Amino acid sequence: MPPQEPSFRDSVDHMFTRAVRFMDLPPGLEEKIRVCNATYTVRFGVRLRGAIHTFTGYRSVHSEHMEPVKGGIRYAMSVNQDEVEALAALMTYKCALVEVPYGGSKGGLRIDPRAWDEHELEQITRRFTYELVKRDLINPAQNVPAPDMGTGEREMAWIADQYRRMNTTDINGNACVTGKPLSSGGIHGRVEATGRGIQYALREVFRYPEDLARARLSGGLEGKRIVVQGLGNVGYHAARFLSEEDGALIVGIVERDGALWNDAGMNVENAKQWMMRTGGLKACPEGKFHEDGAAILEAACDILIPAALEGVIHLGNAARIQAPLIIEAANGPVTAGADEILRERGVVIIPDMYANAGGVTVSYFEWVKNLSHIRFGRMQRRAEEAEHLLLVRELERLSSDQNLGWTLSPGFKQQYLKGADELALVRSGLDDTMRTAYQSMREVWHERPEVGDLRTAAYLVAIQRVADSYKAKGL
Ligand code: GLU
Repeated sequence: MPPQEPSFRDSVDHMFTRAVRFMDLPPGLEEKIRVCNATYTVRFGVRLRGAIHTFTGYRSVHSEHMEPVKGGIRYAMSVNQDEVEALAALMTYKCALVEVPYGGSKGGLRIDPRAWDEHELEQITRRFTYELVKRDLINPAQNVPAPDMGTGEREMAWIADQYRRMNTTDINGNACVTGKPLSSGGIHGRVEATGRGIQYALREVFRYPEDLARARLSGGLEGKRIVVQGLGNVGYHAARFLSEEDGALIVGIVERDGALWNDAGMNVENAKQWMMRTGGLKACPEGKFHEDGAAILEAACDILIPAALEGVIHLGNAARIQAPLIIEAANGPVTAGADEILRERGVVIIPDMYANAGGVTVSYFEWVKNLSHIRFGRMQRRAEEAEHLLLVRELERLSSDQNLGWTLSPGFKQQYLKGADELALVRSGLDDTMRTAYQSMREVWHERPEVGDLRTAAYLVAIQRVADSYKAKGL
């Protein structure tokens, strides 16, 4: 990254400040919203492999205008306070934008998860959890973590179990963390939620030809050429859904060891399987391998999906990015400087705080499920089926009694008679959330031309909601 690039935290602040210029906030409120309320740093030792190893972890709380505060826990060697604070701030705005009733938080542990075996990771995670629970930085009413880079269902199950061991009489203990496996209080559809959210976001954008026209695109998602950077949980699911269900072509996949390219589009599942078997994309028969992955990030395509780390599109490469539409599946993949260059070049960016909000949205559903102690759909599903059956029977009766000769389309009966189960309800809630949030963002984008871009519009909507909540509290 070129030296003049600001830090991630400064980058987020810069975008925030750009947006508040268009607002009329009471004196001092801007500062109150922008700053991070608190960041807790913990160093703890775990005895492993015959020696004590010291780990550094963080939990940052950006805004408590709503509680609990929410945000993932990241395991990576690159974790640092600046990054955790930037990510916590993004969580505040993300939750406000998609109307998920949380403040923003984020955690991180400086660790290379691949350097430790499962049993060791469990010990480290339980110890980190202990340190956070002790200070109410994990608590169903105050602070609810979730997966992020380097963590997943397995770590969330350990966290939930550790919390319950320390709070044996808390009946809502399971709601202390989201992204848990189904068997430990998780919810259907959480694993793929962020990728699914990317798909729903793109489908919504494609419902507005005038929005697409700003990116010099037209038509539907079918046949659109997509480059995805990062085939982790988010990139993999987004690419799979978009290619398998919407007919988009995944022409490029960029990973750690290089990139694959195939003009005809790739089978994402095959590429993922190859990566899991060999550790990289090299020699994968799905496409032509390029050692220089960065070049594929800049290649000509219709949609670019950065789904890995922050800061991958920076002052050094922004001018060479050819995609007219970028959807930020990762948090902060475009630096503030790059954002400016891309904006001037007319590239449309669907901002992270909206694009990747599917994860926290379904986390919210999981938290509600845990607090209500019942699976979604359990009460209604069969009642709904019975009602639909009434209608189908009546149609069939009318057709035969009146000799109308009606026949239902093949598959209709089967589909219509199926009551909504938890997965169907989660998808419906997520789709509605992604559509509604896009509409609130695009309204500002279109009605206030001075705002100029979707990111600034997203900040305006989010900051206004946080400000309203502070004002209502009388702060
Ligand atoms: N880590 C995810 C994010 O950045 C999910 C957070 C959550 O589910 O609380 O949005």
